[in-house]
Amino acid sequence: MRLLLLSDIHANLEALEACLAAAPAHDRVVNLGDVVGYNASPNEVCEQVIAMGAPVVRGNHDRACSGMTDVKDFNPVAAISAYWTRNSLKPEHLEWLRALPQGPLRSNDFPGMEFVHGSPSDEDEYLLNTSSADDNLELPEHAPLIFFGHTHIQGGFIDEEGESRPFRPIYDSLEGPVEYKMWLTPGERYLINPGSVGQPRDNDWRAAFALYEHNGGPLASVTFYRVPYDIEQTQQRILSAQLPDRLAARLKLGR
Ligand code: ZN
Repeated sequence: MRLLLLSDIHANLEALEACLAAAPAHDRVVNLGDVVGYNASPNEVCEQVIAMGAPVVRGNHDRACSGMTDVKDFNPVAAISAYWTRNSLKPEHLEWLRALPQGPLRSNDFPGMEFVHGSPSDEDEYLLNTSSADDNLELPEHAPLIFFGHTHIQGGFIDEEGESRPFRPIYDSLEGPVEYKMWLTPGERYLINPGSVGQPRDNDWRAAFALYEHNGGPLASVTFYRVPYDIEQTQQRILSAQLPDRLAARLKLGR
């Protein structure tokens, strides 16, 4: 199985297209949510994601932008973009977003894996540190390999005898496309975030995704990727839509 993992596209069409163009051959795709919000191409991105036909777990922005939840917990900039997105989305895309399933997503097609937006225990939880990772890796009812999004930070946590250890991909360049392959230790439990396609927050502006590979042998791997994209075009769309300037500026900072 060669499984492409996409998360937190956030209506960034240029970043999504760059990821799809750079993605190696794969036979499956899973999307970890937050298809829309923040950036200015929600309809174009919904169209592409729907056309991919892959499972999608709903994210908090998918709920807020489609009117399923209010935006009281959002900061003002996120709230403005959620309202703008709600008013910009075509009715069929609003309907599609509202119908997205809540995680954890499990399927016989993906044995030993679960897919969530926030965490296995709470779709809105941010898995940012080892204490929240510990709480979730301890849950025996969950699969040993959990893919999550929401934090916009590529990497994750491995369970080492009851204590989680964080890991991040190590890249040899801050420019151009890069990749980092990590072998998964059989029998260990992992929480893995492919990173955010459309609004990375790990100080690297390049679009992020990951590929899980398992060819039936004892070893599986995850390869993390970063790819440059036409960020000026994305920023221009944000400014043309009269969304807050800060949404354009933060993209280049990777924050
Ligand atoms: Zn997000």
